[in-house]
Amino acid sequence: MADTDNKMEKIVSLAKRRGFVYPGSEIYGGLAGIYDFGPRGVELMNNIKRAWWKAHVYDKENYFGLDSGMFKHPRVWEASGHVGGFSDPLAECRECNTRIRVDKELANVGVVADEKMSIEEINALFDANRESIACPKCGAKNFSEARAFNLLVKSNLGDFTSDGGEPVYLPGEACQGIYLDYKNIVDTMQPKMPFGVAQIGKAFRNEISPRNFLFRTREFEQADTQVFVRPNENKELYEEIKRDRWNWYVNGLGIDESKLRWKQHENLVFYAADAWDIEYEFPTGFDELEGIHDRTNYDLTQHQEFSGTDLRYTDPETGEKYIPWILETSVGLGRMFLAVLSDAYHEEEMDGETRVVLRLKPDLAPVRVAVSPLLRNKSELVEKAREVYKMLKQEFGNVAWDDNGNIGKRYRRQDEIGTPYCVVIDFDTLGENPSLLDTVTVRDRDTGEQQRVAISELISVLK
Ligand code: ATP
Repeated sequence: MADTDNKMEKIVSLAKRRGFVYPGSEIYGGLAGIYDFGPRGVELMNNIKRAWWKAHVYDKENYFGLDSGMFKHPRVWEASGHVGGFSDPLAECRECNTRIRVDKELANVGVVADEKMSIEEINALFDANRESIACPKCGAKNFSEARAFNLLVKSNLGDFTSDGGEPVYLPGEACQGIYLDYKNIVDTMQPKMPFGVAQIGKAFRNEISPRNFLFRTREFEQADTQVFVRPNENKELYEEIKRDRWNWYVNGLGIDESKLRWKQHENLVFYAADAWDIEYEFPTGFDELEGIHDRTNYDLTQHQEFSGTDLRYTDPETGEKYIPWILETSVGLGRMFLAVLSDAYHEEEMDGETRVVLRLKPDLAPVRVAVSPLLRNKSELVEKAREVYKMLKQEFGNVAWDDNGNIGKRYRRQDEIGTPYCVVIDFDTLGENPSLLDTVTVRDRDTGEQQRVAISELISVLK
């Protein structure tokens, strides 16, 4: 879907201008598919991660956190199927050498080309639709055949042969670490079935055409849960997890529910029992935000076979030994961040001007409260404002000092980064109007309304 009001462009520009997200290696001309999170971005991202961790570890029973090493034994990626089958169909424009991802170009013209199809099947669909697919750079319709391009990123970690003959891969997905430590967690934590493991970890993919800002990048983070269940006891829990994930977007992140929808996978991989995606309506249209997969016992069976280690669980209640089945949830944090930003982004009229405001949930906002002296060149105001600033900083941490420009400009700036409250110290605070001595103005981001609050009550009011 076309982004008719250029919302994506506006979000990218705001993200750069206000210190949320910068293009990676920008002073060297950039590096495709890599982004840096600036001072505001890292705060927003950390708040999202903290909320996710709380919801998936602390608020649950029988869920355990994990942070596994990024690099893994090379056989891990053979067992997982990534070395043999983790590829996208790539074709090259014969006129200008631009590379396209054929399945996505087919999808743009309404043809479903699924990741489970063989390269021959994809080529047959490609050939039948070549007339409708133009090179995004030069407009020509003269492409090579599609070939399967493996997305794993190689490294030479611990490989001293200098010929790249024994690559150790960067993680193509973060969740493999959970499978590798499943036995350690069982041995050390003695969990009862069903139990979950939650992890946030980096992933790298040689995406053919990284695009749509944080939506498709080559380096990203994934937040995963793997829930281990008794064989055939998957169905009910799967439905419960699906409900839980939906509620997390609506209540945990405050996302507008009308912008979310379910999509079931039509063509399941041979081992899967079911697979659904939660899609979000990004400025460029609905697309996958999170995958929720009922994976049977495939992952642990593969790792048992390739590692030669017994990965069966001995059920303390029945004495039975079995390989647990797995229910997986996996979401890219960059996509989650982009969904939160685009959902919060609003342009509206206030006090006769158009303002941009990020209506972020207060506990996600990169700055919790901004403190300003009405005038920056009046030392009495500045001194009092510094006192209030220090008090709030001690309580909330992410508090900003803002004395740049006039008050109106400061409000606009704080609106753009989503600061829920601005506190202003003025002459009434100092006692010009004795009845207002030691009170400050608190301005609400969403309504623009201001109220007078005693400094002694400020922390509890803001909380
Ligand atoms: P897509 O079809 O969009 O390439 P996928 O189905 O390959 O995604 P999974 O392998 O299921 O994705 O990964 C789980 C989640 O990781 C996705 O739902 C998405 O949120 C995120 N993700 C995957 N690839 C990328 C990427 N290149 N950039 C950012 N996030 C990604």
